[in-house]
Amino acid sequence: MNTYARFPLTLTRGEGSRVWDDKGNGYLDFISGIAVNTLGHAHPKLVAVVAAQAATMLHCSNLFHIPSQQQLATQLATLSGLERAFFCNSGAEANEGAIKLARKYFFDQGSKRRTIITASQSFHGRTLATLTATGQDKVKVGFDPLPSGFDYVPYHDIEALKQAINKDTAAIMLEPIQGEGGVHQADPSYLQAVRQLCNEHGLLLILDEVQTGIGRCGTMFAFQQASITPDILTLAKGLGGGVPVGAMLAREEVAVSFGPGTHGSTFGGNPLSCSAALTVLDEIKQNQLLENVQNRSKQLRAGLTNLAKRFSVMGEVRGAGLLLGVPLKMEAASVVAAARDAGLLILLAGPNVLRLLPPLNVSEAEIDEALQKLAIAMEKQV
Ligand SMILES: *Cc1c(COP(=O)(O)O)cnc(C)c1O
Repeated sequence: MNTYARFPLTLTRGEGSRVWDDKGNGYLDFISGIAVNTLGHAHPKLVAVVAAQAATMLHCSNLFHIPSQQQLATQLATLSGLERAFFCNSGAEANEGAIKLARKYFFDQGSKRRTIITASQSFHGRTLATLTATGQDKVKVGFDPLPSGFDYVPYHDIEALKQAINKDTAAIMLEPIQGEGGVHQADPSYLQAVRQLCNEHGLLLILDEVQTGIGRCGTMFAFQQASITPDILTLAKGLGGGVPVGAMLAREEVAVSFGPGTHGSTFGGNPLSCSAALTVLDEIKQNQLLENVQNRSKQLRAGLTNLAKRFSVMGEVRGAGLLLGVPLKMEAASVVAAARDAGLLILLAGPNVLRLLPPLNVSEAEIDEALQKLAIAMEKQV
């Protein structure tokens, strides 16, 4: 179906931070399949693990114990501080699980609290519940009746949040950086204040790290930069390095509300996706990719800030790690197109913001090359 406004480009092959189209033209890929290809394309280790797993067992269903799923759960629990994991196939599915778990947690306590507060300009997915959670009207038009139980507040406004909490409130659900909504970052102090509010009112804090998680922001999870821990955490995009896998993690006390039969997923956490995710986590650790993200982020930020001195339509760089946004005083689509002509793939975040999402193992030389290509694209705009 015609659900996507696609770029006029057919990609057929990739290697590291580069992709090639069907005519043989090469591009630096600073989209990474929308923050998915954590290790770049055709990463030799990931390729070998996926091929070996395919030759052993792709899928067996959650009727059985799956060792790689148990290992992945243990690793994510250690990394996040949240003891329990549920595996699924996408960000929307992870968020659906989080919404269901929050409601069930209060139901089990005999409480009537059900409402989840989310932020305007947020993005949480395209299923009926997650598009309702999403604080953007454009994704909702024509899909009513929508599920009830969501309230909205401006992002990064602690007073508005305080006022929105009432006797029906069960949880607050936020992205540490709004990716789709324009690369808007919450200060650590805001996230700390939200955590504090949740503690005071007995609410669950759900963080949607579908885009920001798995090293993208320079720490394994973005929430670690605010020194807080959510009650529920959702992951997907970068977790499998290109193999579809999502996860919903929760504190033990919350997770017990999901007993046998309460929730499920046929494909979720199958041997293929879990072996891919384990490889991604292993590679991040073995090759110090968090450090690389931090260093390449500094370099890319500095380069973009320099470009903004040359091109006055470019505003101040936003975001963290290798999830960076540049607001423009013009339509971003024409810059994205010109960058593509110059051999650089970048993305939009709303109509006026450029979004750059290179793989976590991008090299220093590739960042320099991308900046040169972006400069060529910007020159065409004036
Ligand atoms: C992409 C995204 C989603 C939706 O993920 P899908 O895998 O497309 O369902 C949810 N939340 C955030 C923050 C995202 O960036």
